[in-house]
Amino acid sequence: MFIDSHVHTHYSHGDSEVYKVIKDAIEKGLDGVGFAEHFHYDFFNDLGLPTIAGKEMNGIVFENFKIYYKTVERAREEYKDKIKILLGVEVDYLEAKKYEIKESLDIRPFENDYKEENPKRKFEFDFIMGASHFIGNPLKYFSDYRDKGEDWMIEEYFQSIKDTIKSGLFDIIAHPEIIKYFINKDFNYYSQHIEDIVDLLVKYNVAIDLNTDYCLNKETKKFEKHRLNPSIETLVLCKEKDIPLVIGSDAHSPSKMTNNFTETFAVLKNIGIKNLFYFEKRKLIEYTIDTVKAI
Ligand SMILES: [Zn+2]
Ligand SMILES: [Zn+2]
Repeated sequence: MFIDSHVHTHYSHGDSEVYKVIKDAIEKGLDGVGFAEHFHYDFFNDLGLPTIAGKEMNGIVFENFKIYYKTVERAREEYKDKIKILLGVEVDYLEAKKYEIKESLDIRPFENDYKEENPKRKFEFDFIMGASHFIGNPLKYFSDYRDKGEDWMIEEYFQSIKDTIKSGLFDIIAHPEIIKYFINKDFNYYSQHIEDIVDLLVKYNVAIDLNTDYCLNKETKKFEKHRLNPSIETLVLCKEKDIPLVIGSDAHSPSKMTNNFTETFAVLKNIGIKNLFYFEKRKLIEYTIDTVKAI
């Protein structure tokens, strides 16, 4: 099979609507596409919104999130004979807001929708992905905390990833080593954190997002193995401990779907990984990589 489980749309900061993504996915020969739109940030409220370079960031507006949900839900039904559509969400996790996040995922969002046939229903995602895009207090993007030093950034980030896993709310952890693009220290420096994280993934039965968005060197536009997220060393550990890998391009534009998949599959083959996973109705499903289709 050939699946891209991490795609964004114009409902957050992507540039394309749901049906365009699906049409392009079919053209690319994908057997499945997973929508992983960002969740709203309403639960941050009293803490204030996170910032990047001083600019406040917002998640998807809640009303838009509901439209996103219903649009993907409708498309999933319409296209069920042509392509597998997975309805997911990428949630910014914050330990201090654990209960608010849990509540936000557990509401009856369509109670006031006069067109809704079943107003009492809750969100039913195919997968829920947890992510750490911001650290510290106040919440800021990694690059805005460089003055605190790399040790502090590494500790804060990996503690947040560990909290995300331990929350028990998530099926998948998004781009688990995103911090490495903001530090000069290499894998060996933070490898103990990775070992701890892999043990937690086993204990809490959580998968990893094999994110192919960051593999390109921005200047040369070439694939670089050491930029893989998770790193090759982490992938080897995942193989040893049977951690499920869910591959996704994190495309914010349909043309970027399946970006760097071929190169990533070659790395996986070297490690001896032949199977990947996706989530459907929160259930983990294993499949064999179709390397022919991927090229
Ligand atoms: Zn993300
Ligand atoms: Zn994403």
